[in-house]
Amino acid sequence: MNAKDLSIRLQKAAEFVPKDARLADIGSDHAYLPVALMLQKEIAYGIAGEVVSGPYESAKKQVAKNGLENKIDVRLADGLEAVELSDEISAITICGMGGVLIRDILQRGKEKNRLSGKERLILQPNVGERQLRQWLVNENYTITNEAIIEENNKVYEIIVAEKFSVIPSYSARELFFGPILLEERNPVFQEKWQHKLVKSERILASLHQSDQDVAEKIREVAQEIEWIKEVLADAGK
Ligand code: SAM
Repeated sequence: MNAKDLSIRLQKAAEFVPKDARLADIGSDHAYLPVALMLQKEIAYGIAGEVVSGPYESAKKQVAKNGLENKIDVRLADGLEAVELSDEISAITICGMGGVLIRDILQRGKEKNRLSGKERLILQPNVGERQLRQWLVNENYTITNEAIIEENNKVYEIIVAEKFSVIPSYSARELFFGPILLEERNPVFQEKWQHKLVKSERILASLHQSDQDVAEKIREVAQEIEWIKEVLADAGK
């Protein structure tokens, strides 16, 4: 295989991996990302971490098929336990999972001292982007880049974060939309939020019908609808 085999989603994530990185790809079913980057000579070293034995075996096969056993280590481990500080990892990719799962992997990795704080994080949550951004911000990361792409009628966001000495602050609205995506407001972003608006309006209508105490939820969804409307109106100008 070569990098052309990567999906649009993984190719976009790959673009944020720095040249000559020592990369750990966590949740590396088939090890496609590190293998493609190594074949392109874009990375110096790779770890493919997998917690489930089937995907771990697929990753091992993919690495062997491409003759990369001495350049990519495939490790059966939970999350960042695939990484030791002595690996001197400079970039971590975690793609194709829910944002809350990615957040929990990062949190456990931090607690188990697997993050040096110097690595670039390249994260591609399928959902739960806001919760993931909130964790990054709580941990004093700067969101240095973001991308939004569409593939097979699905929209994916990629969040890139690093730690610097200056700690930025983000508004709740920026964490909801993504600070960089909000600035760009590209057509895929607009399409995503058009769909979300319809969904959120339906949710709000059903909350108003509820006989439970949902006042807080109503305020939250109403706030989101207001933000989405403002952002879409601004993007249309
Ligand atoms: N990263 C690839 C991609 O984006 O195409 C594979 C995505 S696949 C949907 C998610 C993979 O993450 C699965 O192979 C799953 O076994 C693995 N995974 C889930 N939780 C994990 C964890 N805590 N540690 C390592 N791998 C995990």
